[in-house]
Amino acid sequence: MSQLRAAAAAGGLRRSGRSALPAAGRSRKGASPRGGIPAPPPAPHLFNDPAEIGALRRNLLAWYDGCKRELPWRTLAATEPDADRRAYAVWVSEIMLQQTQVATVIDYYNRWMQKWPTLQALAQASLEEVNELWAGLGYYSRGKRLQEAAKKVVSELSGRMPRTAEDLQKLLPGVGRYTAGAIASISYGQATGVVDGNVIRVLCRLRCIGADSSSPAVIDRLWDMANALVDRSRPGDFNQALMELGATVCVPKAPLCGECPVKQHCRARRRKLFGKPTPVPDVEDCGVGGCPLCPPATEPWDSSLGVTNFPRKAAKKQPRVARTATCVLERRGCHGAPEYLIVQRPSSGLLAGLWEFPSLPLDQGLQEEKQREALADHLRAWTGRPVVAGGLRFIGEVVHIFSHIHQTYVVYSLPLDADVTLDPALSPSRWVTEEEFHASAVSTAMKKV
Ligand code: SF4
Repeated sequence: MSQLRAAAAAGGLRRSGRSALPAAGRSRKGASPRGGIPAPPPAPHLFNDPAEIGALRRNLLAWYDGCKRELPWRTLAATEPDADRRAYAVWVSEIMLQQTQVATVIDYYNRWMQKWPTLQALAQASLEEVNELWAGLGYYSRGKRLQEAAKKVVSELSGRMPRTAEDLQKLLPGVGRYTAGAIASISYGQATGVVDGNVIRVLCRLRCIGADSSSPAVIDRLWDMANALVDRSRPGDFNQALMELGATVCVPKAPLCGECPVKQHCRARRRKLFGKPTPVPDVEDCGVGGCPLCPPATEPWDSSLGVTNFPRKAAKKQPRVARTATCVLERRGCHGAPEYLIVQRPSSGLLAGLWEFPSLPLDQGLQEEKQREALADHLRAWTGRPVVAGGLRFIGEVVHIFSHIHQTYVVYSLPLDADVTLDPALSPSRWVTEEEFHASAVSTAMKKV
């Protein structure tokens, strides 16, 4: 297994389509004798019994019908008669829900759909308007890509959304396999599965899959399983039910197994209940070191964790540490109210196109005095007037965690008693009141500053 993991990390496994096991994997237990053709995964990790698949579908859908949360995108998907509008409504929700909690998304979603109820309306919006509405939701490139894709549908596809998961993924920028499957199953009733974080957790527990759940080999198997399980007559509801189960019952830390509608199909729960040695010989037949879906031999079942032994992820990479000096420049506006200078970030990269207080990334280990001087030099270029380092007032530090960056903003302020001329050759900039600042396309990190 360790060889398998190393091969995956080194890119030795394909990411899409059926995964090819590397040579190390093929030479071990469960491998195909026909070189090059991957062996099917061991039976304990699959759903092979049609009667069990039917029962699982029925149990899950009955639970979903009785317990699902009422959410605005679900209402739209269930009531909107026009297929393009329906697909658009699901698409927007799926993009917003990536990396973001349902409770946070609802308000953004409602405002978005009110402002741009159709693809055509979104295609006519400016990126600035999109960024303003998206401000605070994070991962800003999502909104930008959504709008680019809407423009493409309007200009190149006659305003008609692609009608299958395959075409959605192929034709729309920013739409990956998961989003395409969700739109196609929920909007068009295509019988195609979905795999997101919630589905990964549920399926890994149902079938005791303990190999690294982010590895291509495991992800490919989970897609196969999701496609096999999805209910043929209610695919959209089935997919939402599986995700709902992961979000509300089969949660990461303290799953509510006693209330789970599919508990009788869950091998992690059986293993927890019966311990080891167990009356579940099919599962125990696995996991002797050669199974590509079992936990690695070095990380055996931990009875104190119960079902949360699954899924298992490779250790997360530590976020990069970064420091940035930022300065709140303040002047008196024409009505005497304070105004603040904000500048626009470049159109690509982190927080692309958003507005911020003038900021300067700092080298690691730079002394406080040097930070000030560097920031003063930077501001001199912005304002075209002398800025003395000693005139910058240190306010404090603000920490913001991006997904991959541990960012500290070292915050200074500088009151100006006269107007300043901003160099038009530098990034766009403008003076805003506090109210205007909050309505602008600024990141949560800048609001903290
Ligand atoms: Fe998840 Fe528990 Fe249900 Fe198994 S029984 S699927 S671990 S909630």
